[in-house]
Amino acid sequence: MKLGFWGAARQVTGSMYLLTLDGDYKVLIDCGLDFDKERNENEIPEFSRDKGFIFPFESTEINLVLLTHAHVDHSGNIPNLVKEGYEGQILCTQPTMELAGLLMADSARIHKIKLNGIHGRGKKINPKVLKRLTSDLYLESHVKETMERFVCIAYNRRFKVHENLYVTFYNTGHLLGAASIFVEARENGQWVKIGFSGDIGRKNYPLLKDPDNFPTVDYLVCESTYGNRNHQTQEPPEKVLEDVIKTSLVDIPGRLIIPSFSVGRTQSLLYTLNRLQFAKKFPGIRVFTDSPMAHKSSQIYEKFRSHLNEEAKEFYEDNDGLFDFESLTYVPDLEGSKAISNYYQPCIIISSSGMIHGGRIENHVQKNLENPYCTIFMIGFSAEGTAGHEIMNGSTEVVIKGRKLEVRARILKTDIFSGHADLRGLMAFVEQQNPAQLKRLFLVHGEEDVMEDFQKTLDWAGYKQTAVPAWGEEFELL
Ligand SMILES: [Zn+2]
Repeated sequence: MKLGFWGAARQVTGSMYLLTLDGDYKVLIDCGLDFDKERNENEIPEFSRDKGFIFPFESTEINLVLLTHAHVDHSGNIPNLVKEGYEGQILCTQPTMELAGLLMADSARIHKIKLNGIHGRGKKINPKVLKRLTSDLYLESHVKETMERFVCIAYNRRFKVHENLYVTFYNTGHLLGAASIFVEARENGQWVKIGFSGDIGRKNYPLLKDPDNFPTVDYLVCESTYGNRNHQTQEPPEKVLEDVIKTSLVDIPGRLIIPSFSVGRTQSLLYTLNRLQFAKKFPGIRVFTDSPMAHKSSQIYEKFRSHLNEEAKEFYEDNDGLFDFESLTYVPDLEGSKAISNYYQPCIIISSSGMIHGGRIENHVQKNLENPYCTIFMIGFSAEGTAGHEIMNGSTEVVIKGRKLEVRARILKTDIFSGHADLRGLMAFVEQQNPAQLKRLFLVHGEEDVMEDFQKTLDWAGYKQTAVPAWGEEFELL
């Protein structure tokens, strides 16, 4: 039995692990988009280099895909796998399937615009360059085909793939439908248990249940996003948001802009706003949610409310909904989005992307960054190279959509809406394993220096068997 690391190896994005069982049965765990780096040509296997690199293996040889959750750095490359000939099933929870479908359809829409741009250049493009530019741009038809391969399974049910392979999904509290996956595989009469953490959530997060306990395993693949730090904000989300609204909209009549990802983050934000609204904490202030995907995602959250925490379920029963309140407007189109600029009363604008890198948020930030009556409230991680990263790190000048702007707006940030466990949460997840029995602990999904720190912390806690796999590294599991 072999486990290969083909993504999120010494970096955060691109989650993709290949488990090869007896008889060459191949299971791919996650198949995400890699935003972190271009591969060094030498690292890419020969056959894959010839084809134009999407996957470092033949897609047709994969027998099964297991998907931990819908975020694109875990799911976003599945349509390419199907496009390249994958014919097997994709196992995940039902909310994950629906949220992933939404994200994939949005990617296909963006790909079509890109393709039209490439083909519309008018001059002949070198076929090799054309292939490189377009090989990973899947379209709606590929997403449709992908959706037909999903098989949904419930949490906590041992699912038999075949007599030598069982999988069980456990709630992680990271995103609606998100799971850690427990794999039991038999080789030479011996059962081997392998755990894939997926992304681990945190306790008391708006809407979501706390992470489930995870069973003991022989091998554990664990995410490391917050492997060297704890969340700073200790106050509850409602209090944090209430204070920001007070200082940016009530004390002075300003405008509050919140860059936020449409799937997951925006729902926790809207739910928290709805609770504040219910408690009459910001009467009359308009809230614009400027993202069509956020609306669809909210509907999926309401549809699967049985997956949410007790507080959210009760709130739904009492209010006949989770997100909609009178002063909330979902902005459906670009015209509506532009019209928000003409609204001069105090208001809250929630729009994506959360890193201010593409999406309608760029227009709002561009128009308001030099406005001292505006507050930009950063509620999530922003990768290096994005406007969000610069704004969060105190740059006084930022370029948005080609225009250099002075930062005169007030910038605030919080980690209270982060869907990731911090160091304490990660340790709590790992410490369910007995250090004397766990054969190997693989760290993935983290920045390299963070993973080194996490490895040291684990070492002090008695976990001496950690490995930080490099891209393409394979391990024999016995
Ligand atoms: Zn995630």
